[in-house]
Amino acid sequence: MSDALEFFDEGTPCGVLTAEPLGRVLDYLAPEGGAWIGAFVEAPLGPRRVVGVVWGAAEGSFPRAKLRAVIRVLDAVPMRAELRAFLARVADYTLTPLPAMLRLATRVPDLGSGPATRKLLYRTDSAPPRMTEAREKVLAVFDGFGGAGLTPGELAQAAGVSSGVVRGLVQAGALLEREALRDQPYPRLDPARAGANLTDDQAQAAAVLAAGVQSGEYGTTLLKGVTGSGKTEVYLEAIAACLALGRQALVLLPEIALTSEFLTRVEARFGARPAEWHSGVTLSERRRCWHMVGQGAAQLVVGARSALFLPFRDLGLIVVDEEHDSSYKQEEGVLYHARDMAVLRAAMAGGQVILASATPSLETWANARAGKYARLDLSARFGPNTLPEMRAIDLRAEDLPTGRWVSPTLQRAVTARLAAGEQALLFLNRRGYAPLTICRACGHQVECSDCDARMVEHRFLKRLVCHQCGATAPMPATCPACGAEDRLAPVGPGVERLEEEARALWPDARVAVLSSDLFGSARALKDQIAVIAGGEADIIIGTQIVAKGHNFPNLTLVGVIDADLGLSGSDLRAAERVFQLVRQVSGRAGRADKPGRALVQTSQPDHPVIRAILSGEEEAFWQSESAQREGLRMPPHGRLAGVILSAPAMEPAFELGTRLAQADAPLRAIGAQVFGPAPAPIARIRGMHRVRLLVKAPKGAALQGAIAAWLKPHNLPRGLRLSVDIDPQSFY
Ligand code: ADP
Ligand code: ZN
Repeated sequence: MSDALEFFDEGTPCGVLTAEPLGRVLDYLAPEGGAWIGAFVEAPLGPRRVVGVVWGAAEGSFPRAKLRAVIRVLDAVPMRAELRAFLARVADYTLTPLPAMLRLATRVPDLGSGPATRKLLYRTDSAPPRMTEAREKVLAVFDGFGGAGLTPGELAQAAGVSSGVVRGLVQAGALLEREALRDQPYPRLDPARAGANLTDDQAQAAAVLAAGVQSGEYGTTLLKGVTGSGKTEVYLEAIAACLALGRQALVLLPEIALTSEFLTRVEARFGARPAEWHSGVTLSERRRCWHMVGQGAAQLVVGARSALFLPFRDLGLIVVDEEHDSSYKQEEGVLYHARDMAVLRAAMAGGQVILASATPSLETWANARAGKYARLDLSARFGPNTLPEMRAIDLRAEDLPTGRWVSPTLQRAVTARLAAGEQALLFLNRRGYAPLTICRACGHQVECSDCDARMVEHRFLKRLVCHQCGATAPMPATCPACGAEDRLAPVGPGVERLEEEARALWPDARVAVLSSDLFGSARALKDQIAVIAGGEADIIIGTQIVAKGHNFPNLTLVGVIDADLGLSGSDLRAAERVFQLVRQVSGRAGRADKPGRALVQTSQPDHPVIRAILSGEEEAFWQSESAQREGLRMPPHGRLAGVILSAPAMEPAFELGTRLAQADAPLRAIGAQVFGPAPAPIARIRGMHRVRLLVKAPKGAALQGAIAAWLKPHNLPRGLRLSVDIDPQSFY
């Protein structure tokens, strides 16, 4: 696809891609006034009207006389060649049909409808003749928005008054109504404002990154630095360089709850807040963001992985913060890895990528070692802080009664910190109260009726929850298998149970739990984090959500309840994940002016991963992980693709799996092997039986083409679903 402008005159055939699952571009006649290539259009499809994009020349096989005309061109900047090419490349890479890619790129409300303007209210100089408390509230709202216009609805909601009060103020002349563009541009970010006084190390890294941005060419850099070393400060300077060139920048964060702290830092650095794109923003903000990004009227976007598919006009920099985070892999719908696709998009847009992490993924580490990515290290924490001292607590030597998880040694350490007026964090990566509910009479384990998974007790919700499908059920009073009464007992710890133990051990302490499922909304979670950071909790109990870059200045002790959790798994990345998680969580301790310490409870203090965690010899750890995977020809030294077949019954899925495994010639042709079919580790989810195949190919093999050729001859029986997961991260 070239950047050359192409125009289709009214009545000439052109190809239109829609988000409908048709698998191909359809031919239409260009509408009245013609259409540019890339134009967003509304087109008839059967009895319906659908949104599409003029994708290119007509395919031509359909008789011209029968072609229908595009209805109209929509009010949006045409999709640029760069984004069209990017969508096509991601489609090829992930073996996803193009319409599904277009759906990702058009997740914006009202694209096909809605007026371009709306009524906004502004404050006038005249006070209303009669002032009431409600009217005062309305007028006060404007102070908080710097005089910007607000819709009547927004105004009434912000003031907490009825719409009648607002109307009354308009009639009284205290508010003025004006037509305004529906989507307002974002306030300008000023890259020339002064940033932090960087240390020598930081300044050097910032200069290298800024020079990369100024080159106007593609490049990816791993920015590795311990938590608190100033990675954010450093990449803010790269963003400044990008904005100064008039190009756009995108920052991806793994967790919505992290955005508010980052937005505040952007505002401090550049004088205004950037655009936001994630599931926590309102529909009208989403629409504003999408359109303004396309018009170049949003300089910086902070977002979740799907922000990669925004219609940037000139994307000069993508920062992927906490690049190792597993949430960057989309596990439903289009199965893509946002970190890898960020690299692809930047390469196509002529932009830079910064992958920031204290504990990079092995893939990124290996790419840096191979010279594919540049690497910058920030080795010291900012200021007088040192890294926390790390020690193991050998659980074999501790006197720990059943049903308790805080060892006496950890208990003493926490008590000492509380006495000093500091905070302690107890980390356990398990949501809920107890992972298992068992009948003491017959041994029955309570399982989900639709999944091959145990139900997890959540006392906070007073229900059992399936962590696979989300189904919930009341706690049964009697055993579903043998009918015994009062014999169902929780087994094993979850954060809620740990909270119970903490309250018993430290009755006077204020205990706060941070677990994603305890909060109805991202905002509630944000608020809880702010409360903790403000010092209104003594003991914090958290799942992996606490590992992700929150700043708790008064936190000086981290206790890892069970470092062995996850070590035993057969998952390819089990060791890597435990290493990253425990190092990250430990990094929460001692960020301000107080030294921190991390105590790691384990029954295997001599396990190589635990030893690497404690010694902090990261390079040695990665080298040994890398060597192991190299020996097995596993990623990043080989390639994998998962194939998941799911169906209401097991047999048809297995049958197709067996046929696929037998007809593996296209895979053998590239030196790839197929393993399976085998029941997936979670053999049933939401009532669907799941069968897996795993394709393993040499590094550099043309895997996607071979897989497409391999799957093509097989028709899917009714009700059977097949999905391909290129570079799988999870194997459930
Ligand atoms: P990281 O992203 O590596 O965790 P941050 O950039 O968040 O590190 O820095 C940690 C803390 O130290 C932040 O509060 C940050 O504002 C502060 N900090 C880092 N470098 C500097 C600097 N050069 N001047 C002032 N404050 C700094
Ligand atoms: Zn379930």
